[in-house]
Amino acid sequence: MILDSFKLTGKVAIVTGCNTGLGQAIAIGLAEAGCHIVGINRSAPSETIHKMEKGGHRFLDLRADLLKQAHIPALIEQAIEEYGHIDILVNNAGIIRRQDAIDFTEQDWDDVMDVNAKTAFFMSQIVAKQFIQQGNGGKIINIASMLSFQGGIRVPSYTASKSALMGLTRAMANEWAVHNINVNSIAPGYMETNNTSALREDAERNEAILARIPAQRWGKPVDVAGPCVFLASEAANYMHGYTIAVDGGWLAR
Ligand code: NAP
Repeated sequence: MILDSFKLTGKVAIVTGCNTGLGQAIAIGLAEAGCHIVGINRSAPSETIHKMEKGGHRFLDLRADLLKQAHIPALIEQAIEEYGHIDILVNNAGIIRRQDAIDFTEQDWDDVMDVNAKTAFFMSQIVAKQFIQQGNGGKIINIASMLSFQGGIRVPSYTASKSALMGLTRAMANEWAVHNINVNSIAPGYMETNNTSALREDAERNEAILARIPAQRWGKPVDVAGPCVFLASEAANYMHGYTIAVDGGWLAR
């Protein structure tokens, strides 16, 4: 039955930055589809833990600052110690810094590139090594952005990092497809999370954004959960290196 290919029963999924926002909705979506979750967070994921307990889902709470890559191997080891295997990685943790390009600082460049692109790459690399060792393939899903496709305004390092992530999605897919590893991305549009609260509070920007979205609403975190479950499932076994927009039609316009 086709719907069986969407089930994730007993799979182990790592989701970075799942204490809030899109990461939380993705972790809950994957758990509801049958996954055991490994959450890698900088802040305590109290609300997510509460929701996982309420749903009767298994959740391993690991903490790390993903600005640095040095502790990634230890995190993956802890995940394997707990569950014995890994099947899915969602590189969701991300940051944004806003400033005119003319005044942009090296710190704001490095921090954003480190979390959004460098950590996502090295996290993928170590998880792909584990997938190859396990011998059954695996799924890597990167959370990209509209600014993987467009230039944006006042967010040069964010645009660079998310454009890099879409390119890396293709590069990793090309090398790892032979191991039955699917690397794909989701590019969310304008979503209601902490990341966009400043934009939503700015009445003028909010109105301009809404006027350009064909669906005429901001996306909700849960809007990315279904596409993520799909990309994590056997139903997406022949998808490699693609970035799916979940944007209320923003890019179609
Ligand atoms: P959010 O609410 O700000 O959440 C970001 C997550 O990343 C949080 O869990 C945050 O942890 C974590 N994170 C940031 N820096 C970290 C670090 N150094 N170490 C560990 N974790 C770190 O943002 P969101 O809107 O849900 O965004 C999730 C992803 O979607 C990001 O990659 C973002 O770029 C992307 N995205 C969002 C939108 C949107 O409209 N919201 C659109 C396109 C793409 P803390 O809570 O500890 O900071």
